[in-house]
Amino acid sequence: TRSCLDAIDGADALNAFAHRTPDLAMDRARAADARLKDGNAPDLCGIPLGIKDLFCTQGVPGQAGSRILQGFRPEYESTVTARLRDAGAVMLGKLNMDEFAMGSSNETSVYGPAVNPWRRAGDDTALTPGGSSGGSAAAVAAGLCLAATGTDTGGSIRQPAAFTGITGLKPTYGRCSRWGIVAFASSLDQAGPMTRDVRDAAILLGAMAGHDPLDSTSADLPVPDFEAALKGDIRGKVIGIPGEYRMDGMPDAIDALWRDGIAMMKDAGAEIRDISLPHTKYALPAYYVIAPAEASSNLARYDGVRFGHRATLDQGDGITEMYEKTRAEGFGDEVKRRVMVGTYVLSAGFYDAYYNRARKVRTLIKRDFDRAFADGVDAILTPATPSPAFALGAMQDADPVQMYLNDVFTVTVNLAGLPAIALPTGQDGAGLPLGLQLIGRPWGEAELLDAAYSLE
Ligand code: GLN
Repeated sequence: TRSCLDAIDGADALNAFAHRTPDLAMDRARAADARLKDGNAPDLCGIPLGIKDLFCTQGVPGQAGSRILQGFRPEYESTVTARLRDAGAVMLGKLNMDEFAMGSSNETSVYGPAVNPWRRAGDDTALTPGGSSGGSAAAVAAGLCLAATGTDTGGSIRQPAAFTGITGLKPTYGRCSRWGIVAFASSLDQAGPMTRDVRDAAILLGAMAGHDPLDSTSADLPVPDFEAALKGDIRGKVIGIPGEYRMDGMPDAIDALWRDGIAMMKDAGAEIRDISLPHTKYALPAYYVIAPAEASSNLARYDGVRFGHRATLDQGDGITEMYEKTRAEGFGDEVKRRVMVGTYVLSAGFYDAYYNRARKVRTLIKRDFDRAFADGVDAILTPATPSPAFALGAMQDADPVQMYLNDVFTVTVNLAGLPAIALPTGQDGAGLPLGLQLIGRPWGEAELLDAAYSLE
């Protein structure tokens, strides 16, 4: 814990931690030492972790990367962080992230962007660690913590993992409790581990997962021993390769990464099968209707009364002005854009044309996956991202849709509620890490982790 705290202090330039909790960390580390001496140490006893700022942790500032939550100190602990704490883990602090987890580069954060510890060979340009769990990815990649929590609504664990050369797992929707995690799009949000390797992901997921009566969408299913499932034996397993993920203009390095991954799995004894997921091309538009719709509803609670920041009011201002001024100055541009899109697609005249249509598309996307798994496919292999990490600021003046295109390989999984893992398996010509994605059956994290283990 002490060496992590020192590393964090020496890595200000990465801007990975938004709030540091050294005193709390040392207290928990000492308690862990005592438990180790008593010989009744739980699984994660003394393991120093970073926690994404989206998780409420009792008494510790939590802003979800937003100005509107300035000064908010939750009185409660999220179920996932409570489980980690009870398993003996030591929280080092809260990690930087895009505002309310909306973004793919960490640049919408009120704290300013986290920075990727990687650089292109011979080029000192600062790169994005991805988003929205950019601080988590940067911190794990730079060795500031042994592992971190992330959340994934539309790729926010997997894309940053791919950009920083670490492993990120988005569990099946309902595997981890959402209680105490600031809500973005409640039908898509899932917490998951961001780790150095597959074994750590298995261990951490085991501690994070499980039924929680406080989240009605959390599944009442046993949590398997994920670590024990790691055998690295994929002989006879059927790996699906979806043609629809082969996009025009995909960089050669991504194409090569995918080909190499296919070859590796084939060599390890898997059966490689071409499959079709025909509704893939509608996933991004459906996601960017459904996620903003849910966000516009979830973010209505930030009204200047109950949480965090309230604008300074003028004489004569009423409650309407208080709401308007607080929300105008508390939310950043991307969040405002999502709230406006979301309220538009939910409005009486457009509900059927956009929101209901997107929900139908979502069902079709889910059925594509159901069919593939029913036909005997065990896991689906795709690239995790359409490019390596890009320069911070590169998209500043671009159409926001350019940023959304980053999520093209990841959002399908959230719409279908499936588990998926991103893991580093290659590099581009400039030496930047690249990640592959494996998508599994619902509740099949143990098999998914095992398949990923075979690629490591
Ligand atoms: N890029 C996605 C978005 O901005 C990421 C969301 C997420 O997974 N939190 O909506």
